Amino acid sequence: MAEENGDVSGVATLTKKDFTSDQEPRWCPGCGDYAILAAVQGFMPELGIEPHNTVFISGIGCSGRFTYYMDTYGFHGIHGRAPAIATGVATANPDLHVWVVTGDGDALSIGGNHLIHALRRNVNIKILMFNNQIYGLTKGQYSPTSEQGKVTGSTPAGSVDYPFNPLSLALGAEATFVARAIDTDRAHLTTVLRAAAEHRGSAFVEIFQNCNIYNDGAFDFVRDEKENRVYLEHGQPAGDTGIVHVETDFATAFALSRVTFETHGVVPLGVFREIQRDSYDELVQAQLDNAKGEGDLQALVASGDTWVI
Ligand code: SF4
Repeated sequence: MAEENGDVSGVATLTKKDFTSDQEPRWCPGCGDYAILAAVQGFMPELGIEPHNTVFISGIGCSGRFTYYMDTYGFHGIHGRAPAIATGVATANPDLHVWVVTGDGDALSIGGNHLIHALRRNVNIKILMFNNQIYGLTKGQYSPTSEQGKVTGSTPAGSVDYPFNPLSLALGAEATFVARAIDTDRAHLTTVLRAAAEHRGSAFVEIFQNCNIYNDGAFDFVRDEKENRVYLEHGQPAGDTGIVHVETDFATAFALSRVTFETHGVVPLGVFREIQRDSYDELVQAQLDNAKGEGDLQALVASGDTWVI
């Protein structure tokens, strides 16, 4: 890689091209996924981590195609199971940089259980959840983040469901890093990606993503209207919400997760919570180190309550 880039020092100088596969993106023209892909591919080189030490894992949905477009290792898994696959990858390979790309349906409906347990375990994975408040791939059914009353093909009289607040859910699951960004605000999205990448443990990032085919304009109030954004800064007041942001304080993060355009006329963006806690792979490795290779797996399997039929 270093020689390909003309770097004879032995230290690779990575570029966006190194993370861009030869696959032509197949999202609808105008989809917010393009902007997110461009931001991620443009950001990855600054980590200085070679593509072969990076893995992108996705589930099912329009977001699931992301793995094909990254020239890294990748795994397009089954619906909702990306966090489970990523848990295995990250635990068995603690030196890999593991990212999960998912959507609101994949992560919060079909994969809700896997998501919350990956977060509470503090698995060392970075989860990017593209929230477009709709099932795009299957042509526009309401999702777990669709607003109540949402009229879709599957809810012709309007959805009666109360939606999830993804950040409140992640915080309730004990996520150690929780953040939000917008697809079209590349500079800020990159800042959030940088913070997530630097975090050791589970990082959950909700990205407002426009599905211009089935839910166009869902986030226009904050994509188009910059005065409706509140960029969070640790130790600083969060706009006029009356909340001073402290990233390490759970109550503050949760209170900010409840601030919405409907309740306050603004939407907080940035890092809501960031705390340090031993990650899952570190704890597992510590157990393995402690065991020092002793033990008899066969004897363990055959021990205890076994019987002959
Ligand atoms: Fe994007 Fe929506 Fe098209 Fe899916 S259906 S590719 S989310 S615009």
